[in-house]
Amino acid sequence: MKECLFCGIVEKKQKARIILEDEVAVAFEDIHPQAPVHVLLIPRKHIGSLNEAQGMDREVLGHLLLMAAKVAEMKQVHRGGYRLVINTNSQAGQTVFHLHVHLLGGRTMTWPPG
Ligand code: 5GP
Ligand code: ZN
Repeated sequence: MKECLFCGIVEKKQKARIILEDEVAVAFEDIHPQAPVHVLLIPRKHIGSLNEAQGMDREVLGHLLLMAAKVAEMKQVHRGGYRLVINTNSQAGQTVFHLHVHLLGGRTMTWPPG
């Protein structure tokens, strides 16, 4: 496997402002925030994108969503509202090919997204 930036964060070889971590996933601040709250949630396991996720990753995927809800509460955006985004492949704007959930909050979101 090629060098993966987010595997580097999981392994603590790459610096990140980690908010929450457990045995399955790591949540950290996005380096280029698009909202007052912008957190990335990644599985410890390398999964390139949602397209590569398998049936056996079901629990990991569910874990990411529950962890996102926990982080939303920690960041106090759970009542006002927040958005979760998983960009998959180039047309959606995926730039880092280690599956991640964006948690965006702290401002009013528009719909449809850009
Ligand atoms: P994507 O475009 O793949 O959906 O999202 C990748 C995200 O990773 C972007 O929001 C980008 O700002 C963030 N990012 C890229 N490199 C780094 C980094 O080294 N550290 C952190 N914390 N975030 C990063
Ligand atoms: Zn990785």
